[in-house]
Amino acid sequence: MRSHLLNDTTAELYRSSVTEGVERVAAKLATTTRPFTGVTPDALSPTVDAVDLDEPLQDTIAALDELEDVYLRDAVYFHHPRYLAHLNCPVVIPAVLGEAILAAVNSSLDTWDQSAGGTLIERKLIDWTTGRIGLGPAADGVFTSGGSQSNLQALLLAREEAKSRDLSKLRIFASEVSHFSVKKSATLLGLDPQSVVSVPVDREKRMQTVTLAEELRRCRENGLVPMAVVATAGTTDFGSIDPLPEIAELCAQYDTWMHVDAAYGCGLLVSNKNRDRLTGIERADSVTVDYHKSFFQPVSSSAILVRDGATLRHATYHAEYLNPRRTVAERIPNQVDKSLQTTRRFDALKLWLTLRVMGAKGIGSLFDEVCDLAYEGWQLLAADPRFDVVVEPNLSTLVYRYIPADATDPTEIDRANLHARKALFASGDAVVAGTKVGDRQYLKFTLLNPETTLDDISAVLDLIAGHAEQYLGDTLDRAS
Ligand SMILES: *Cc1c(COP(=O)(O)O)cnc(C)c1O
Repeated sequence: MRSHLLNDTTAELYRSSVTEGVERVAAKLATTTRPFTGVTPDALSPTVDAVDLDEPLQDTIAALDELEDVYLRDAVYFHHPRYLAHLNCPVVIPAVLGEAILAAVNSSLDTWDQSAGGTLIERKLIDWTTGRIGLGPAADGVFTSGGSQSNLQALLLAREEAKSRDLSKLRIFASEVSHFSVKKSATLLGLDPQSVVSVPVDREKRMQTVTLAEELRRCRENGLVPMAVVATAGTTDFGSIDPLPEIAELCAQYDTWMHVDAAYGCGLLVSNKNRDRLTGIERADSVTVDYHKSFFQPVSSSAILVRDGATLRHATYHAEYLNPRRTVAERIPNQVDKSLQTTRRFDALKLWLTLRVMGAKGIGSLFDEVCDLAYEGWQLLAADPRFDVVVEPNLSTLVYRYIPADATDPTEIDRANLHARKALFASGDAVVAGTKVGDRQYLKFTLLNPETTLDDISAVLDLIAGHAEQYLGDTLDRAS
């Protein structure tokens, strides 16, 4: 069994195994004609269930053959131009190379003595990111597993910096279309269920700052304490960006932590033409970025950045075996002092290789392309009487719904749209997302693939219209 350990004597097996895996994936990518096979959980489960994990195959080729059946054949392929559903990007090759290297070397970024140069690389990328944001000389941060963890950590710091220790008094302000991880974090942090005040959005789905001002004032008047305002720079559904400068003003006025959730909108940090849409982000106390959403990085790759690096001490705990107090005096860089995690992947390597091969402009131009595509898609939808489209995109999503010519009851239209999404998924021809706007069922394209064309969008819209019409026709038949 030792022959399976990766070491100085097993280079040949390492090379042949990884190469075989790479070949399988390359062949799969080359021959995949649809983003999905449409397999159902019921159809796939027996194949997975049939595998006896106590009976190893003892052979890499056989295990990869089996993997074809249990996973590769029916996976959802984000690189396919008709995968238009969630915030999953196609990945860039330098980052995939980074993933292969980081897994093999297996550094752990909790301490210097488990990572060495890995820690320095991560720190340099944090500095690079805070520089792009404009957080100033005291800024710092750390890589995390994703935007949800970044938001949790940001709100932990905000809670610790809050002007009251009475958790029942603390309030967080976030727009009604902010990410659900804000509420989840509040619960994890021991705050009241009503601690997250939902601020309404305007027609562009941006936080109404007039209402935010009123809510902050009311909070004070009621003897409560504003703990943080979460501004979203790129809402998950609409890509809308809250008015960051106005929110920064209000946070200054109320001496409140400003967190910017740029999990999605962070791609604008490297945009070659739309960086100004993030103006005001430089005034944040903390920022969430998800490189695995708009920097074309594989899952996972995210970071939390803070204006004042000293606030990260709220995540610092010392263990004699790991990061004893004296290591601080000895100036040994232990990233665990800033992180919610202990053992931690060297995800930063993926971004490092990406920047070293393609550069920030390269990534930015890919993101600019999908934003341009979304704008063209919006024009297409706005001109098409079959569809109602919600807002002109700031980033790369489109929220719309099919409206039949002889528009019937809105609940029927909801059902027709829901059906169209499911039927499309089952066909595997394309994958789109769904969401609600008010009480109504809408559909969503999240465009993150520069290979997707306007023709793809137009073809998928025709498919959706077809499925929706089919559904409405069938219900008419049933009714008559
Ligand atoms: C995706 C998203 C998150 C959560 O990020 P994960 O990486 O999925 O944990 C948070 N906020 C916004 C606005 C998002 O779009």
